[in-house]
Amino acid sequence: MIDLSGKSAIVTGGSRGIGRAIVLALARQGADVAFSYKGNADAAAEVVAAVEALGRQALAHRGDVSEPDAAEGLVAATLGAYGRIDILVNNAGITRDDLVMRMSTDAWRDVVDTNLSGAFYAIRAAMRPMIRARAGRIVNVSSAAGRAGNAGQANYSAAKAGLIGLTKAVAREVASRGITCNAVAPGFVLTELTSGLAEPIQEGIRAATPLGRFGTVEEIADAVVFLASDEAAYITGQVLGVDGGLVMS
Ligand code: NAP
Repeated sequence: MIDLSGKSAIVTGGSRGIGRAIVLALARQGADVAFSYKGNADAAAEVVAAVEALGRQALAHRGDVSEPDAAEGLVAATLGAYGRIDILVNNAGITRDDLVMRMSTDAWRDVVDTNLSGAFYAIRAAMRPMIRARAGRIVNVSSAAGRAGNAGQANYSAAKAGLIGLTKAVAREVASRGITCNAVAPGFVLTELTSGLAEPIQEGIRAATPLGRFGTVEEIADAVVFLASDEAAYITGQVLGVDGGLVMS
């Protein structure tokens, strides 16, 4: 039975969708959770209330993960509130889809800066307290698109594949300090991020998924909680597909 009592976690992009489910799942297992969000203060306040209703503490920190200073601020606020950082989940992510030949430089940069550089800034900021504690769990939320590529998502696929490389490099770098670093790679989950996708495209993804359905935010959160737990102590540098079998390798 996974027990995160007494542990403190950071989740980036915890106000909605998969991040919100991760915050609540960590709290349900006993962790206090600090999370960031970009702008939706009402959604963030709702998540804080939901965590407190579970008897745990929550801290909502407004900040853009693509800004290096935001990561430093989030880590400082978490240490100030809880005195430790046991778990870091890099979940914040965006899409700005287009075909390569039409993709703007801004669309490329925004997605790479948020989905890949954002995780690097947060890992760098959380590393010192984790190394000092000689313990830590880092979980990066990649994507099936980062493992297999997706037409119309060159920026997103590249950033999510980069996140896998980052995961493996960090895993090797800090293994001797008792810190693990893994990634989960969700398939298709209905959230605000994906709700705009045309029905025929959604149908195509469902048809290509061996389990024949989309995932739920809770199913992604369950995998993250496992990788963040003591039960996953001997797992590092791995990519766990949580995608109904969409990508097998
Ligand atoms: P979502 O519903 O759009 O939620 C995104 C969350 O991230 C929100 O809390 C948002 O905050 C926050 N956020 C966005 N940009 C941010 C920034 N620059 N700085 C700080 N926070 C930011 O997305 P989701 O579907 O839950 O996706 C979560 C993660 O899973 C992403 O990394 C995504 O790539 C990955 N993923 C999703 C799917 C899927 O099918 N949904 C599949 C594979 C991978 P605000 O509320 O303030 O906007």
